[in-house]
Amino acid sequence: MSSSAESKEYDVIVIGAGVIGPCIATAMARQGRSVLIVEREWTKPNRIVGELLQPSGLKALKQLGMVQAVNNIDAIHVDGYYIGFYDKNVYVTYPEKSVLKDIDTEPVPKAIFKGDEDKMVTDNTLDMKDWDNTSNVRGVAFHHGDFLMSLRKICLDEPNVTKLEGTVISLLKDGNKVIGVKVADKGEFRSRITISCDGIYSKFRKELGANNVPSVGSYFVGLDLEDAVLPRKNHGHVLLGKMAPVLVYQISPHHTRILCAIRSQKLPKREQVLTYLKDEVLPQLPESIQPSFMKALESDDQDVYKSMPNQYLVAKQNKIPGLICLGDSLNMRHPLTGGGMTVGLNDTVLMAKILSDLSNEELSDDGVILEKMLQFHVDRKGLDTVINTLSIALYSLFAADSKPLSLLQKGCFFYFHRGGECVSGPVGLLSGLIPKPMVLFNHFFAVAFYSCYINFKEKGWLGFPIALWENIVALITAAFVLLPNLFKEIFS
Ligand SMILES: Cc1cc2nc3c(=O)[nH]c(=O)nc-3n(C[C@H](O)[C@H](O)[C@H](O)COP(=O)(O)OP(=O)(O)OC[C@H]3O[C@@H](n4cnc5c(N)ncnc54)[C@H](O)[C@@H]3O)c2cc1C
Repeated sequence: MSSSAESKEYDVIVIGAGVIGPCIATAMARQGRSVLIVEREWTKPNRIVGELLQPSGLKALKQLGMVQAVNNIDAIHVDGYYIGFYDKNVYVTYPEKSVLKDIDTEPVPKAIFKGDEDKMVTDNTLDMKDWDNTSNVRGVAFHHGDFLMSLRKICLDEPNVTKLEGTVISLLKDGNKVIGVKVADKGEFRSRITISCDGIYSKFRKELGANNVPSVGSYFVGLDLEDAVLPRKNHGHVLLGKMAPVLVYQISPHHTRILCAIRSQKLPKREQVLTYLKDEVLPQLPESIQPSFMKALESDDQDVYKSMPNQYLVAKQNKIPGLICLGDSLNMRHPLTGGGMTVGLNDTVLMAKILSDLSNEELSDDGVILEKMLQFHVDRKGLDTVINTLSIALYSLFAADSKPLSLLQKGCFFYFHRGGECVSGPVGLLSGLIPKPMVLFNHFFAVAFYSCYINFKEKGWLGFPIALWENIVALITAAFVLLPNLFKEIFS
């Protein structure tokens, strides 16, 4: 198939140039495929999503030879998390670099061609000498729009990639096989494989099944803080208290993102949201953050905050010939743990590796591709199950809206206080570097039993019968929080 600008036939068509689209398009192009990437809006977006990349996401960008996308965008390195619980706090540092020995860090075939595409460089905000001298892995935070424009530039510099601005309105089909796309006002384009990376509001994921629709559990409202003073530099902040969880992380030298969860499946009216932020969130924030938060709230901009639904969607196996769903189009989880880009980028690495030994002609071979899709579905399970289940389970604990959940929330905080394996295990799971569901199971129930122990201790001998009853309810609640999601992820 040809790849000239006028051509209407390609080996691969990618729908969407968000985080994942440019990455899979680049990988395909470097493997010698002609690629058309269609995006409805190529200008820089201003969104509150995808701003903290976990260490495993950074590792995936290296494997894709695209890690320099985090350079020269004023990115801030992240060493771990500060967890605030009412007036107490604990630091949780990302695992040691040795954890990388146990996971796949091999580059995608043909992704590294000059030799330095997997290496970050020193720039205004990232110091590689300092980075190399630390013994622990790091993540990175940035303005989403800047990161996206960097990824898009790397992608569009590939000679095999053709860019098209337009909205894909439908898929072209031959029977049940997808053979290309129809783009509004631009016409029809054909391909051997169409990869749908159309994100959170994906129009095309329903091709995988009529019931393939996400559920909304809660909302995040996000504000931009100027020159906020955070309790712990270079750390993501998770703040727990009477309010639903609040996330805070610095995304450039002068800007900090604050995301406040709203415990509701429907977004309340603007006035209610502003009242909640003023009356319930503001007083619970660490004192050093309050002035910048107050200033952001007082802005007379209509857009004081932006909101996003927190959605959940278990991945379905790609079984439709000619179509692959990737990124949020395939699978979503709660953004509390900042795992969306990490799952999407690691899926991209896996997909590019799995397809790498196929000739361009073989991309049209449904039998071969469907076999590869089964392999992809099975091989991605470990990371996918850990990140997705953890995000839902942690949100349930951190947004605790019942007595048993509050008991587990407290136990979780004091579990981290123990340090050692009680920190390195959970943060290894969260950073995407321990893709083992069994480790998640063990730590989650260790937290549940530790919560019971704390409750017994606090209640003393006199309160033993009450504590016993509360602990039984807490353990049942823990099982209900973890197991259904864990099984759904493993057996989907
Ligand atoms: C509140 C919130 C905060 C988050 N924070 C983080 C975080 O800190 N870290 C993290 O790792 N993840 C985070 N995530 C998740 C992360 O943003 C997503 O996982 C990630 O953006 C998915 O990338 P994607 O390419 O699949 O989709 P997107 O980035 O959404 O890209 C989809 C692209 O497709 C285009 N498109 C859609 N339909 C069409 C069409 N019909 N034709 C042409 N183009 C189309 C869109 O314009 C868009 O550019 C967060 C999510 C939410 C909701």
